[in-house]
Amino acid sequence: MQLIFASNNNNKLEEVRRYLPQHAILSMKDINCLDDIDETGTTFEENAHIKAQYIYSRFGFSCFADDSGLVVDALNGEPGIRSARYAGEHNNVEANVNKLLANLHGIENRKAHFVTVICLLLNGKEYFFRGEIHGTILTERKGTEGFGYDPIFLPDGYTKTFAEMSIDDKNSVSHRALAIEKMITKLNELIFVEE
Ligand code: IMP
Repeated sequence: MQLIFASNNNNKLEEVRRYLPQHAILSMKDINCLDDIDETGTTFEENAHIKAQYIYSRFGFSCFADDSGLVVDALNGEPGIRSARYAGEHNNVEANVNKLLANLHGIENRKAHFVTVICLLLNGKEYFFRGEIHGTILTERKGTEGFGYDPIFLPDGYTKTFAEMSIDDKNSVSHRALAIEKMITKLNELIFVEE
């Protein structure tokens, strides 16, 4: 089956392709779509829907899109859907992490979770898949792997931050992997029914 992944993020594409070897996963670039899709939603679901719907309505291909972020309990869910732009419009990781640490300074409740929501539009039908991983925000960075908020996120039940884990170890427990797994299960079900 051919599916468009409404993303041009090479890391994500590589990860998704690794999970779905039996399907042809094309990027936006592969279908000559260089548009920057405005994420104007107020939830992860809305933003994933906006991106998938954009591709489906313009190109008519079955596709999926994801939206992710970090939800911090003591900050009423911030940075949430604004995770990439927490400290300003340009995704400045250093500034985003500094802002989060400053906002949590002196706060005892450090609980947080990463969320990924995938919206799959297949033959005109829409499906959503959510993956979450819960953990704690440290008071300082640890580790150099990964990206974004990884150095300050300690997943529950682990002694290493996401940035101290190998990419493979992180991918085996991450919010993104969980959402992708749910999508794979659904795709296999749907393909089985179609056959
Ligand atoms: P996206 O929707 O996957 O592009 O994620 C939006 C933002 O959420 C990223 O720019 C990061 O700041 C944050 N984020 C999402 N997933 C992760 C992760 O696995 N580790 C660290 N930060 C993440």
